[in-house]
Amino acid sequence: MKAGYYVGDYTYEVRDIPDREPIEDEVKIRVAWCGLCGTDVHKFQGKNGASVVIPPIILGHECSGVVESVGPECEYFQPGDRVACDPSYGCGKCKWCQQGHPNFCLTRHGVAKGFAEYVYPPEQNVYPIKDSLDLKTAAFTEPLSCAIHGMDLIQIESGKTVVMYGMGAIGSLMLQLIYLAGAGRIIVVEREAEKRELALELGADQAVSDQEIEAISQAENIDYVIECIGLKSTMEQAIKIAGKNSKVLLFGLGDPDQPVSFNQFEAYTKELSIYTSYLNPHTSARAVKLLESGRLDTEKIISAELNLEEIGTELQNLNYSKKGKVMVYLDRN
Ligand SMILES: [Zn+2]
Ligand SMILES: [Zn+2]
Repeated sequence: MKAGYYVGDYTYEVRDIPDREPIEDEVKIRVAWCGLCGTDVHKFQGKNGASVVIPPIILGHECSGVVESVGPECEYFQPGDRVACDPSYGCGKCKWCQQGHPNFCLTRHGVAKGFAEYVYPPEQNVYPIKDSLDLKTAAFTEPLSCAIHGMDLIQIESGKTVVMYGMGAIGSLMLQLIYLAGAGRIIVVEREAEKRELALELGADQAVSDQEIEAISQAENIDYVIECIGLKSTMEQAIKIAGKNSKVLLFGLGDPDQPVSFNQFEAYTKELSIYTSYLNPHTSARAVKLLESGRLDTEKIISAELNLEEIGTELQNLNYSKKGKVMVYLDRN
């Protein structure tokens, strides 16, 4: 089977490797679609994603597909089932899994490297999808499940004012979740005019630049700030513009070598709560349900549909990634 590897030193390679039969409770899935994630780009650039990277590794982890065959201990799936994957494996036995936090699992690893014709996750990481949900949309399960975990952490109360930074793929999903959560007013901060337009289409009341948001935050209390970019400057501004009693979620993945600083006294007088969100514990089934509901618009977020070879060029120049979500197809039918 073909698989797209990061082999180190800014190099991507499509390799031909043997495929195999599933063992134990594995589900062998013929991958249809896999999203390109910001963390894949991080890995390609020699930084770590959600975990330490030792190349060569197969990239991709946001995949959907059709079950090809199942291992002898698999109970809930059969060939032909249409599915989405949660790529993050939790053992279920370690002290973190025992406490309900599989995102901190001591042996956590990726089990659905989707830039490949087949993946072999154990069935606990596989989610069935309805026939009405197309496989391209189903490939949004993982990024959406991460966004849902962030929303779970901050528990937005209806009718409040929310500021959201960044209309990349994650921000575009997050914005729609904020809207569905019943926010009273949503302001999106985004530098690019085209993406500000998209923000208004997807539920924002106002879309502004990072210069404009400071004045707005003087005039009204910002109850929640969600940063979906991961830049030091925007994360620091997100903390600064937060109002009294506000919750700030720093969702964007920051640079490990660039600490973020803030004025503790200012934060103290506002009684700020600052959150971060790591991976997607227990949120995949809800992500699938939301995608099936049709309430989210994922088509508007997609900037390109590329094959396994074309992704190599994209990782080098990030032309489409700057505009939105890049989707990789392994099997379009
Ligand atoms: Zn991802
Ligand atoms: Zn564990």
